[in-house]
Amino acid sequence: MIQPATPSWKLPAALAATLLVGAVLGWLADGHVAVGVALVAVAEVVLLLTRIGHQTPPMMATPAAASPLQHDRFMMRSRRIASSLRDLRNAASQLPDAVVLLDRQQQIRWFNHAAENLLGLRRPQDRGAPLQQRMAGSDLADWLRRGTQEPLSDIAAPGQADSQINVSMLPFGDHEQLLLARDISHLNRLEQIRRDFVANVSHELRTPLTVIHGYLELLDLEDVPELAPVLSEMRAQSKRMGQIVEDLLTLSRLETQHQVADERVPMASLLATVRKEAEALSQGRHRIVLESTAEADLLGSPKDLHSALSNLVSNAVRYTPTGGSITIRWQRVPDGAVYSVSDTGFGIPATHLARLTERFYRISSSRSRDSGGTGLGLSIVKHVLNLHQAQLQIDSTPGVGSTFACHFGHARLLTPGGSDDD
Ligand code: ADP
Repeated sequence: MIQPATPSWKLPAALAATLLVGAVLGWLADGHVAVGVALVAVAEVVLLLTRIGHQTPPMMATPAAASPLQHDRFMMRSRRIASSLRDLRNAASQLPDAVVLLDRQQQIRWFNHAAENLLGLRRPQDRGAPLQQRMAGSDLADWLRRGTQEPLSDIAAPGQADSQINVSMLPFGDHEQLLLARDISHLNRLEQIRRDFVANVSHELRTPLTVIHGYLELLDLEDVPELAPVLSEMRAQSKRMGQIVEDLLTLSRLETQHQVADERVPMASLLATVRKEAEALSQGRHRIVLESTAEADLLGSPKDLHSALSNLVSNAVRYTPTGGSITIRWQRVPDGAVYSVSDTGFGIPATHLARLTERFYRISSSRSRDSGGTGLGLSIVKHVLNLHQAQLQIDSTPGVGSTFACHFGHARLLTPGGSDDD
Protein backbone atom coordinates (compact mmCIF):
# COMPACT_ATOMS: atom_id res chain seq x y z
CA MET A 1 0.00 0.00 0.00
CA ILE A 2 1.26 3.47 -0.77
CA GLN A 3 1.72 5.71 2.23
CA PRO A 4 0.29 9.22 2.20
CA ALA A 5 2.95 11.66 0.94
CA THR A 6 5.02 13.51 3.55
CA PRO A 7 4.31 17.26 3.53
CA SER A 8 6.97 18.98 1.38
CA TRP A 9 8.55 20.92 4.28
CA LYS A 10 8.99 17.88 6.50
CA LEU A 11 11.93 16.21 4.74
CA PRO A 12 14.29 19.22 4.54
CA ALA A 13 13.33 20.15 8.13
CA ALA A 14 14.09 16.63 9.36
CA LEU A 15 17.35 16.70 7.43
CA ALA A 16 18.38 20.03 8.91
CA ALA A 17 17.49 18.76 12.40
CA THR A 18 19.58 15.61 11.87
CA LEU A 19 22.58 17.60 10.64
CA LEU A 20 22.19 19.93 13.62
CA VAL A 21 22.22 16.97 16.00
CA GLY A 22 25.40 15.77 14.25
CA ALA A 23 27.00 19.20 14.60
CA VAL A 24 26.15 19.34 18.31
CA LEU A 25 27.40 15.79 18.92
CA GLY A 26 30.57 16.57 16.99
CA TRP A 27 31.04 19.78 18.94
CA LEU A 28 30.61 17.91 22.22
CA ALA A 29 33.13 15.30 21.06
CA ASP A 30 36.14 17.61 21.16
CA GLY A 31 34.84 20.32 18.83
CA HIS A 32 34.80 18.19 15.65
CA VAL A 33 31.67 19.79 14.22
CA ALA A 34 32.54 18.83 10.62
CA VAL A 35 33.13 15.21 11.62
CA GLY A 36 29.79 15.07 13.46
CA VAL A 37 27.95 16.50 10.45
CA ALA A 38 29.81 14.11 8.13
CA LEU A 39 28.90 11.12 10.24
CA VAL A 40 25.19 11.84 10.41
CA ALA A 41 25.22 12.83 6.72
CA VAL A 42 26.75 9.51 5.75
CA ALA A 43 24.42 7.66 8.14
CA GLU A 44 21.46 9.46 6.57
CA VAL A 45 22.63 8.52 3.06
CA VAL A 46 22.89 4.88 4.04
CA LEU A 47 19.49 5.04 5.75
CA LEU A 48 17.89 6.60 2.71
CA LEU A 49 19.53 4.07 0.42
CA THR A 50 18.22 1.28 2.60
CA ARG A 51 14.77 2.84 2.67
CA ILE A 52 14.72 3.28 -1.11
CA GLY A 53 15.92 -0.31 -1.45
CA HIS A 54 12.93 -1.44 0.60
CA GLN A 55 10.47 0.78 -1.17
CA THR A 56 11.62 0.24 -4.73
CA PRO A 57 9.55 -2.86 -5.62
CA PRO A 58 6.17 -1.41 -4.65
CA MET A 59 7.24 1.95 -6.06
CA MET A 60 8.35 0.60 -9.39
CA ALA A 61 5.41 -1.67 -9.57
CA THR A 62 2.88 1.01 -8.85
CA PRO A 63 -0.33 -0.91 -8.53
CA ALA A 64 -2.25 -0.80 -11.74
CA ALA A 65 -5.24 0.08 -9.64
CA ALA A 66 -3.52 3.17 -8.14
CA SER A 67 -5.36 6.36 -8.87
CA PRO A 68 -3.61 9.14 -10.84
CA LEU A 69 -3.49 11.18 -7.61
CA GLN A 70 -1.71 8.38 -5.74
CA HIS A 71 0.67 7.98 -8.63
CA ASP A 72 1.55 11.69 -8.63
CA ARG A 73 2.16 11.67 -4.88
CA PHE A 74 4.37 8.65 -5.22
CA MET A 75 6.43 10.30 -7.99
CA MET A 76 6.81 13.50 -5.96
CA ARG A 77 8.00 11.56 -2.96
CA SER A 78 10.57 9.59 -4.99
CA ARG A 79 11.91 12.82 -6.47
CA ARG A 80 12.23 14.40 -3.02
CA ILE A 81 14.10 11.41 -1.61
CA ALA A 82 16.41 11.33 -4.64
CA SER A 83 17.09 15.06 -4.31
CA SER A 84 17.82 14.79 -0.54
CA LEU A 85 20.14 11.92 -1.28
CA ARG A 86 21.98 14.00 -3.89
CA ASP A 87 22.28 16.93 -1.44
CA LEU A 88 23.70 14.71 1.28
CA ARG A 89 26.19 13.09 -1.05
CA ASN A 90 27.26 16.48 -2.38
CA ALA A 91 27.69 17.82 1.16
CA ALA A 92 29.74 14.79 2.25
CA SER A 93 31.88 14.91 -0.90
CA GLN A 94 32.81 18.53 -0.26
CA LEU A 95 34.00 17.96 3.33
CA PRO A 96 37.62 19.07 3.81
CA ASP A 97 38.41 15.82 5.67
CA ALA A 98 38.82 12.59 3.74
CA VAL A 99 35.88 10.23 4.39
CA VAL A 100 35.95 6.59 3.23
CA LEU A 101 33.05 4.23 3.87
CA LEU A 102 34.25 0.63 4.25
CA ASP A 103 32.22 -2.56 4.27
CA ARG A 104 32.79 -5.39 6.75
CA GLN A 105 35.68 -6.73 4.61
CA GLN A 106 37.30 -3.27 4.58
CA GLN A 107 36.47 -2.86 0.92
CA ILE A 108 35.86 0.67 -0.27
CA ARG A 109 32.14 1.46 -0.67
CA TRP A 110 32.28 5.20 -1.09
CA PHE A 111 34.75 8.08 -0.69
CA ASN A 112 34.71 11.85 -1.05
CA HIS A 113 36.89 14.30 -3.02
CA ALA A 114 39.29 14.90 -0.12
CA ALA A 115 39.95 11.13 -0.04
CA GLU A 116 40.99 11.32 -3.70
CA ASN A 117 43.51 14.06 -2.89
CA LEU A 118 44.82 12.92 0.48
CA LEU A 119 44.68 9.13 0.05
CA GLY A 120 45.11 8.98 -3.73
CA LEU A 121 41.87 7.00 -4.27
CA ARG A 122 40.51 6.97 -7.83
CA ARG A 123 36.99 6.51 -9.08
CA PRO A 124 35.50 4.39 -10.40
CA GLN A 125 38.27 1.80 -10.23
CA ASP A 126 38.81 1.95 -6.43
CA ARG A 127 35.16 1.28 -5.56
CA GLY A 128 35.06 -2.21 -4.12
CA ALA A 129 38.87 -2.43 -3.78
CA PRO A 130 40.31 -3.57 -0.41
CA LEU A 131 41.64 -0.37 1.23
CA GLN A 132 44.64 -2.06 2.84
CA GLN A 133 45.80 -3.39 -0.52
CA ARG A 134 45.24 0.01 -2.15
CA MET A 135 47.42 1.68 0.53
CA ALA A 136 50.16 -1.01 0.34
CA GLY A 137 53.61 0.21 1.36
CA SER A 138 52.31 3.15 3.42
CA ASP A 139 52.09 3.64 7.20
CA LEU A 140 48.34 3.60 6.74
CA ALA A 141 48.42 0.02 5.41
CA ASP A 142 50.41 -1.15 8.49
CA TRP A 143 47.91 0.58 10.75
CA LEU A 144 44.94 -1.01 8.95
CA ARG A 145 46.61 -4.42 9.18
CA ARG A 146 47.10 -4.02 12.95
CA GLY A 147 43.39 -3.18 13.26
CA THR A 148 44.07 -0.94 16.25
CA GLN A 149 41.46 1.47 17.65
CA GLU A 150 44.13 4.08 18.41
CA PRO A 151 44.12 6.96 15.90
CA LEU A 152 47.19 7.30 13.69
CA SER A 153 48.98 10.64 14.05
CA ASP A 154 51.13 12.65 11.73
CA ILE A 155 51.86 10.35 8.80
CA ALA A 156 52.65 11.31 5.21
CA ALA A 157 49.45 11.44 3.13
CA PRO A 158 49.60 8.51 0.64
CA GLY A 159 48.10 10.69 -2.11
CA GLN A 160 50.03 13.91 -1.47
CA ALA A 161 53.68 13.49 -0.57
CA ASP A 162 54.11 16.92 1.06
CA SER A 163 51.03 16.68 3.31
CA GLN A 164 50.64 15.07 6.71
CA ILE A 165 47.45 13.53 8.04
CA ASN A 166 45.85 12.21 11.23
CA VAL A 167 43.68 9.14 10.65
CA SER A 168 40.92 7.58 12.76
CA MET A 169 38.47 4.75 12.21
CA LEU A 170 34.89 4.77 13.47
CA PRO A 171 32.70 1.68 13.65
CA PHE A 172 29.50 2.27 11.77
CA GLY A 173 26.29 0.46 10.77
CA ASP A 174 26.50 -3.31 10.60
CA HIS A 175 30.24 -3.95 11.13
CA GLU A 176 31.04 -1.26 8.60
CA GLN A 177 33.65 1.38 9.24
CA LEU A 178 34.19 5.01 8.46
CA LEU A 179 37.77 6.11 7.90
CA LEU A 180 38.45 9.78 8.51
CA ALA A 181 41.70 11.51 7.54
CA ARG A 182 42.42 15.12 8.42
CA ASP A 183 45.08 17.22 6.70
CA ILE A 184 47.33 18.60 9.46
CA SER A 185 50.05 20.08 7.19
CA HIS A 186 48.93 23.60 8.05
CA LEU A 187 49.11 22.92 11.81
CA ASN A 188 52.54 21.33 11.37
CA ARG A 189 53.76 24.36 9.45
CA LEU A 190 52.55 26.69 12.22
CA GLU A 191 54.25 24.48 14.82
CA GLN A 192 57.47 24.63 12.77
CA ILE A 193 57.24 28.46 12.57
CA ARG A 194 56.78 28.60 16.35
CA ARG A 195 59.79 26.33 16.91
CA ASP A 196 61.99 28.30 14.49
CA PHE A 197 60.92 31.59 16.05
CA VAL A 198 61.80 30.46 19.59
CA ALA A 199 65.10 28.99 18.41
CA ASN A 200 66.03 32.13 16.44
CA VAL A 201 65.13 34.55 19.23
CA SER A 202 67.06 32.48 21.75
CA HIS A 203 70.04 32.31 19.44
CA GLU A 204 69.99 36.06 18.79
CA LEU A 205 69.80 36.81 22.53
CA ARG A 206 72.72 34.56 23.39
CA THR A 207 75.55 36.84 22.17
CA PRO A 208 74.39 40.17 23.66
CA LEU A 209 73.69 38.40 26.95
CA THR A 210 77.16 36.86 27.02
CA VAL A 211 78.68 40.32 26.44
CA ILE A 212 76.59 41.96 29.20
CA HIS A 213 77.36 39.13 31.57
CA GLY A 214 81.07 39.34 30.76
CA TYR A 215 81.25 43.10 31.52
CA LEU A 216 79.25 42.68 34.73
CA GLU A 217 81.76 40.10 35.89
CA LEU A 218 84.64 42.46 35.10
CA LEU A 219 83.26 45.28 37.24
CA ASP A 220 84.77 45.28 40.67
CA LEU A 221 82.23 45.63 43.43
CA GLU A 222 84.84 47.17 45.73
CA ASP A 223 85.35 50.15 43.39
CA VAL A 224 81.84 51.53 43.88
CA PRO A 225 80.54 50.13 47.16
CA GLU A 226 77.23 51.99 46.90
CA LEU A 227 76.46 50.13 43.66
CA ALA A 228 77.34 46.73 45.08
CA PRO A 229 73.76 45.54 45.69
CA VAL A 230 72.66 46.77 42.25
CA LEU A 231 75.57 45.07 40.53
CA SER A 232 75.06 41.77 42.27
CA GLU A 233 71.35 41.81 41.35
CA MET A 234 72.28 42.59 37.73
CA ARG A 235 74.71 39.68 37.72
CA ALA A 236 72.10 37.30 39.14
CA GLN A 237 69.46 38.41 36.59
CA SER A 238 71.80 38.22 33.59
CA LYS A 239 72.80 34.73 34.72
CA ARG A 240 69.12 33.78 34.93
CA MET A 241 68.41 35.13 31.45
CA GLY A 242 71.42 33.22 30.15
CA GLN A 243 70.05 30.03 31.71
CA ILE A 244 66.59 30.58 30.16
CA VAL A 245 68.17 31.07 26.73
CA GLU A 246 70.29 27.92 27.10
CA ASP A 247 67.26 25.89 28.22
CA LEU A 248 65.17 27.18 25.29
CA LEU A 249 67.95 26.24 22.87
CA THR A 250 68.19 22.77 24.46
CA LEU A 251 64.41 22.34 24.09
CA SER A 252 64.48 23.43 20.43
CA ARG A 253 67.21 20.92 19.70
CA LEU A 254 65.34 18.11 21.50
CA GLU A 255 62.07 18.91 19.73
CA THR A 256 63.57 18.61 16.27
CA GLN A 257 65.47 15.45 17.12
CA HIS A 258 63.82 12.10 16.36
CA GLN A 259 66.42 9.80 17.84
CA VAL A 260 69.45 9.89 20.12
CA ALA A 261 73.00 8.60 19.81
CA ASP A 262 73.18 5.04 21.12
CA GLU A 263 76.11 5.39 23.49
CA ARG A 264 76.84 3.60 26.75
CA VAL A 265 75.98 5.80 29.73
CA PRO A 266 77.84 4.38 32.76
CA MET A 267 75.28 4.75 35.54
CA ALA A 268 77.66 4.36 38.50
CA SER A 269 79.53 7.52 37.57
CA LEU A 270 76.42 9.40 36.43
CA LEU A 271 74.69 8.68 39.77
CA ALA A 272 77.79 9.79 41.68
CA THR A 273 77.81 13.03 39.65
CA VAL A 274 74.13 13.86 40.25
CA ARG A 275 74.58 13.15 43.95
CA LYS A 276 77.57 15.54 44.10
CA GLU A 277 75.53 18.17 42.24
CA ALA A 278 72.68 17.76 44.74
CA GLU A 279 75.09 18.18 47.67
CA ALA A 280 76.62 21.29 46.10
CA LEU A 281 73.17 22.83 45.55
CA SER A 282 71.86 21.83 48.98
CA GLN A 283 74.95 23.09 50.83
CA GLY A 284 74.26 20.79 53.74
CA ARG A 285 70.61 21.81 54.12
CA HIS A 286 69.27 18.32 53.23
CA ARG A 287 70.05 14.68 53.86
CA ILE A 288 70.92 13.18 50.48
CA VAL A 289 70.83 9.38 50.02
CA LEU A 290 71.76 7.29 46.97
CA GLU A 291 70.40 3.73 46.63
CA SER A 292 71.67 2.01 43.51
CA THR A 293 70.77 -1.67 43.10
CA ALA A 294 69.97 -1.94 39.38
CA GLU A 295 73.46 -2.99 38.19
CA ALA A 296 72.68 -1.63 34.76
CA ASP A 297 74.02 1.04 32.44
CA LEU A 298 71.84 2.98 30.02
CA LEU A 299 71.99 3.18 26.25
CA GLY A 300 71.45 6.67 24.87
CA SER A 301 72.79 10.21 24.93
CA PRO A 302 75.09 10.79 27.96
CA LYS A 303 74.70 14.57 27.80
CA ASP A 304 70.89 14.55 27.57
CA LEU A 305 70.43 11.85 30.21
CA HIS A 306 72.72 13.74 32.58
CA SER A 307 70.67 16.88 31.99
CA ALA A 308 67.34 15.08 32.67
CA LEU A 309 68.44 13.09 35.72
CA SER A 310 70.17 16.03 37.36
CA ASN A 311 67.18 18.30 36.67
CA LEU A 312 65.01 16.07 38.87
CA VAL A 313 67.58 16.16 41.66
CA SER A 314 67.91 19.93 41.40
CA ASN A 315 64.11 20.31 41.64
CA ALA A 316 64.01 18.06 44.71
CA VAL A 317 66.62 20.24 46.44
CA ARG A 318 64.95 23.50 45.40
CA TYR A 319 61.45 22.47 46.45
CA THR A 320 62.35 20.84 49.77
CA PRO A 321 62.72 23.02 52.87
CA THR A 322 65.87 22.84 54.97
CA GLY A 323 66.08 19.69 57.07
CA GLY A 324 64.25 17.54 54.49
CA SER A 325 65.68 14.48 52.80
CA ILE A 326 66.19 13.48 49.19
CA THR A 327 66.62 9.90 48.00
CA ILE A 328 68.00 9.04 44.57
CA ARG A 329 67.23 5.43 43.48
CA TRP A 330 68.27 3.27 40.52
CA GLN A 331 66.46 -0.07 40.71
CA ARG A 332 65.36 -2.99 38.53
CA VAL A 333 61.65 -3.56 37.90
CA PRO A 334 60.06 -6.42 35.90
CA ASP A 335 59.88 -4.41 32.66
CA GLY A 336 63.25 -2.64 32.90
CA ALA A 337 64.74 -0.21 35.41
CA VAL A 338 63.62 2.92 37.22
CA TYR A 339 65.57 6.03 38.18
CA SER A 340 63.66 7.96 40.81
CA VAL A 341 64.11 10.99 43.03
CA SER A 342 61.98 11.22 46.18
CA ASP A 343 61.85 14.25 48.42
CA THR A 344 60.09 15.30 51.60
CA GLY A 345 59.34 18.74 50.18
CA PHE A 346 56.36 20.99 49.46
CA GLY A 347 54.63 18.43 47.24
CA ILE A 348 52.32 19.18 44.32
CA PRO A 349 48.50 19.37 44.39
CA ALA A 350 46.96 16.72 42.09
CA THR A 351 45.33 19.33 39.81
CA HIS A 352 48.76 20.52 38.63
CA LEU A 353 50.32 17.11 37.91
CA ALA A 354 49.07 16.72 34.32
CA ARG A 355 50.43 20.11 33.21
CA LEU A 356 53.76 20.06 35.05
CA THR A 357 55.87 19.18 32.00
CA GLU A 358 54.54 22.09 29.91
CA ARG A 359 57.02 24.89 29.22
CA PHE A 360 56.99 27.61 31.86
CA TYR A 361 54.28 25.84 33.89
CA ARG A 362 54.91 26.53 37.56
CA ILE A 363 52.83 26.08 40.68
CA SER A 364 54.33 29.16 42.23
CA SER A 365 56.26 31.52 39.95
CA SER A 366 57.93 33.31 42.82
CA ARG A 367 59.10 30.09 44.48
CA SER A 368 60.47 28.86 41.14
CA ARG A 369 62.21 32.16 40.41
CA ASP A 370 63.63 32.57 43.90
CA SER A 371 65.13 29.10 43.71
CA GLY A 372 66.75 29.84 40.33
CA GLY A 373 64.26 27.94 38.15
CA THR A 374 63.51 28.70 34.50
CA GLY A 375 60.22 26.77 34.29
CA LEU A 376 61.69 24.63 31.51
CA GLY A 377 63.36 21.83 33.50
CA LEU A 378 60.56 19.24 33.45
CA SER A 379 59.81 20.00 29.81
CA ILE A 380 63.42 19.11 29.00
CA VAL A 381 63.14 15.95 31.16
CA LYS A 382 60.02 14.84 29.26
CA HIS A 383 61.63 15.34 25.84
CA VAL A 384 64.81 13.52 26.82
CA LEU A 385 62.80 10.59 28.20
CA ASN A 386 60.63 10.46 25.04
CA LEU A 387 63.75 10.21 22.93
CA HIS A 388 64.81 7.23 25.07
CA GLN A 389 61.31 5.63 24.94
CA ALA A 390 61.12 6.14 28.72
CA GLN A 391 58.15 7.39 30.76
CA LEU A 392 57.97 9.92 33.55
CA GLN A 393 55.70 9.15 36.49
CA ILE A 394 55.01 11.76 39.15
CA ASP A 395 53.54 10.92 42.57
CA SER A 396 53.11 13.68 45.06
CA THR A 397 51.26 14.62 48.22
CA PRO A 398 51.15 18.28 49.21
CA GLY A 399 53.01 18.89 52.42
CA VAL A 400 54.51 15.37 52.41
CA GLY A 401 56.73 15.13 49.34
CA SER A 402 57.11 14.00 45.74
CA THR A 403 58.61 11.16 43.72
CA PHE A 404 59.62 11.66 40.10
CA ALA A 405 60.31 8.27 38.46
CA CYS A 406 61.79 7.57 35.00
CA HIS A 407 60.94 4.10 33.61
CA PHE A 408 63.43 2.71 31.10
CA GLY A 409 62.60 -0.42 29.07
CA HIS A 410 64.91 -3.47 28.72
CA ALA A 411 66.02 -2.27 25.26
CA ARG A 412 67.77 0.71 26.92
CA LEU A 413 69.71 -1.33 29.52
CA LEU A 414 73.28 -2.62 29.27
CA THR A 415 75.30 -4.82 31.62
CA PRO A 416 77.91 -2.62 33.37
CA GLY A 417 81.45 -3.21 32.20
CA GLY A 418 80.28 -5.36 29.25
CA SER A 419 81.10 -4.65 25.64
CA ASP A 420 79.09 -1.84 24.04
CA ASP A 421 77.03 -4.20 21.96
CA ASP A 422 75.64 -6.44 24.71
P1 ADP B 1 61.31 25.24 37.49
O1 ADP B 1 62.51 25.77 36.81
O2 ADP B 1 60.28 26.28 37.80
O3 ADP B 1 61.64 24.39 38.66
P2 ADP B 1 60.43 22.80 36.23
O4 ADP B 1 59.93 22.58 34.86
O5 ADP B 1 61.65 22.06 36.65
O6 ADP B 1 60.60 24.35 36.37
O7 ADP B 1 59.26 22.45 37.23
C1 ADP B 1 57.97 22.98 37.00
C2 ADP B 1 57.25 23.24 38.32
O8 ADP B 1 56.97 21.99 38.94
C3 ADP B 1 58.06 23.99 39.33
O9 ADP B 1 57.92 25.38 39.14
C4 ADP B 1 57.46 23.53 40.64
O10 ADP B 1 56.31 24.29 40.90
C5 ADP B 1 57.03 22.10 40.35
N1 ADP B 1 58.00 21.10 40.86
C6 ADP B 1 58.96 20.46 40.13
N2 ADP B 1 59.63 19.58 40.91
C7 ADP B 1 59.07 19.65 42.13
C8 ADP B 1 59.32 18.97 43.40
N3 ADP B 1 60.27 18.04 43.54
N4 ADP B 1 58.52 19.31 44.45
C9 ADP B 1 57.54 20.24 44.32
N5 ADP B 1 57.28 20.89 43.18
C10 ADP B 1 58.02 20.62 42.10
